[in-house]
Amino acid sequence: MLDITTFIRELYEEPEASIPLHAPVFNGKEKEYLCNCIDTTFVSSVGEYVDRFEEMTRDYTDSKRAVAVANGTCGLEMALRLVDVKPGDLVLTQALTFVATANAITHIGASPVFLDSDPDTLGMSPDALRDFLVNSDRKIAACVPVHILGHACRIHEICDICAEFDIPVVEDAAEALGSTLNGQHLGTFGRVGVLSYNGNKTITTGGGGMILTNDETLGARAKHLTTTAKAPHRWEFRHTETAWNYRMPNINAALGCAQMERLESILQDKRDIAHAYRDFFAPKDGIDYIDEPKGCRSNYWLNTILLKNREERDSFLEYSNNSGVMTRPLWTLMPDLSMFENAACGELANAKDIQDRAVNLPSGPRKPRKDKS
Ligand SMILES: *Cc1c(COP(=O)(O)O)cnc(C)c1O
Repeated sequence: MLDITTFIRELYEEPEASIPLHAPVFNGKEKEYLCNCIDTTFVSSVGEYVDRFEEMTRDYTDSKRAVAVANGTCGLEMALRLVDVKPGDLVLTQALTFVATANAITHIGASPVFLDSDPDTLGMSPDALRDFLVNSDRKIAACVPVHILGHACRIHEICDICAEFDIPVVEDAAEALGSTLNGQHLGTFGRVGVLSYNGNKTITTGGGGMILTNDETLGARAKHLTTTAKAPHRWEFRHTETAWNYRMPNINAALGCAQMERLESILQDKRDIAHAYRDFFAPKDGIDYIDEPKGCRSNYWLNTILLKNREERDSFLEYSNNSGVMTRPLWTLMPDLSMFENAACGELANAKDIQDRAVNLPSGPRKPRKDKS
């Protein structure tokens, strides 16, 4: 195990300092844009950076509309509202995900149903989805598959099954900005998709999220509902319904614009790191490196290995964290959290196996090389 932490330290050119799991790198125009917000006093709910960040993201992901919001969680909650999920409804998602997915469903007053994972993509298993739908007579209001760690789930099959049962798909693409499947950006397959810009994600706005959709009507509605449903007027305050203040402030969007300008180089660096990991682990017995699925160009948000069993996972976590190389297991399965212990769930054999064995490795972009002259 010793050589793994040595390898990671060499990869990050950090022989001494501790290595974080995923720290942001700011070496573009972040400071310039932030200073501009302060100089113009436009730090808050309106400003040119919000519009620019939305346009940049819309064009980059090739979607019809992108609406910036305060974080990924409220983006998911709003996405569920946009596809008409109501209190008391059932919403399908997966047991192996970050808690935000399940929280967003709960915030609506709906109940999550937790399905098993696909062993190759770590995302929702289309077989588990079909199995649940064929054997259930309850109406399902929406399905929220998650692109885990930046890898595409089997989203085509999931969308096809959901279309058959007339269920809208909300894609949790919080971890997947920059990832594509057969050239199409993740987050643009379902009726609505959601990205996150939390500090540990591929790029960050401090905190923030983005709602993506190819349905212009839904996009306009997303903007309206996340900005207090104000009817446009030069001075009147007239609001058309009870709505939300889920805006992304201009100061956060400023950071986002500067980060977007560097996205390609961040993705390239993360890809180089991923390939170095893949080559390093290829000959190692009892350790599987999780590579991008077929057809997917992953952003490799967090590189992941599978160890033999839970004991080996725990001793690896103990060893690497003690030596200053930050590693983490995947999230506790949702039905194992107290607030979801009574939630409906399918057979979770794959999710349990992955959760027992997976470890995330340091995966952030590297700091720009110091000038060595
Ligand atoms: C990060 C994340 C979110 C939520 O994003 P926040 O911006 O932190 O609210 C949702 N789902 C998944 C799978 C995530 O990883």
